[in-house]
Amino acid sequence: MEKLGLLYQGKAKKLYATEDPEVLWVEYLNQATAGNGAKKEQIVGKAELNNRITTLIFDELKRVGIDSHLVKQISPTDQLVRKMTMFPLEIVQRNVAAGSFSKRLGVDEGTALKEPVLEYYFKSDPLNDPFINDDDAVALGLATREELAQIATLARTINVKLTALFASIDVRLVDFKIEMGKTSDGEILLADEITPDTCRLWDLRSGADAEGDGAVKDGQIERLDKDIFRKDLGSILPAYHEILGRLENLAASH
Ligand code: ADP
Ligand code: UDP
Repeated sequence: MEKLGLLYQGKAKKLYATEDPEVLWVEYLNQATAGNGAKKEQIVGKAELNNRITTLIFDELKRVGIDSHLVKQISPTDQLVRKMTMFPLEIVQRNVAAGSFSKRLGVDEGTALKEPVLEYYFKSDPLNDPFINDDDAVALGLATREELAQIATLARTINVKLTALFASIDVRLVDFKIEMGKTSDGEILLADEITPDTCRLWDLRSGADAEGDGAVKDGQIERLDKDIFRKDLGSILPAYHEILGRLENLAASH
């Protein structure tokens, strides 16, 4: 497969056309951003880590019946994916209060939620990805009511499968963001990426950071995700390596 013209330059990835109109070439970048690009840094090695992590997670999800846009990883930093018409939505699932949820609703970080919360944010850099509800999304034509129903069901199923997957490698899945799109034949599929950039992952191997497993201790929480970067707590690389290592062990155990 050949890499043709650049279609999109994002904050974390570049998208290229290929000779197959149904397939895109995704190149992961070393760039890390937070606050909609307000904080930006090059972190050598991040592209390879996230490309590999997302590939392993999409492979694991496939094993449990969740299909995604992933075709295959083709190099340390690149993968081929099915071209999708994306819904301009950040689809967030929360199991534990953290981040903007804690701030907005005044709930302590770490409070378990009585049931998972599904939220939508409108993907718009100029507007800073505002929080929206179903009516907003339908009124703006971002998705139909029927598509939102499918998106919600799929997101909740992905949360169940992903929570179990991370629990099996001793990681608590606090919350995460996913994106979905439609294939040319109208199927709604999981797309984009699932990495420590897009999930809050707390280490359940108690005190493991002392043994050098990469988690960064922040009060009672041992962080293995991008909050390490967002909150200036140190390097993300050891934490991302740790997630990758645990996922590789899981894949090897099948
Ligand atoms: P951002 O756009 O937020 O800066 P990225 O750098 O991760 O984020 O850019 C990747 C872009 O590719 C996102 O806009 C995402 O919606 C889009 N995308 C992800 N998967 C696909 C796909 N299979 N087909 C088309 N677009 C996709
Ligand atoms: N998230 C993301 N991209 C974004 C915003 C959020 O991947 O542009 C993820 C984030 O990593 C977390 C979840 O979505 O796992 C919920 O994030 P939150 O709304 O708490 O936003 P934050 O306060 O982190 O910006």
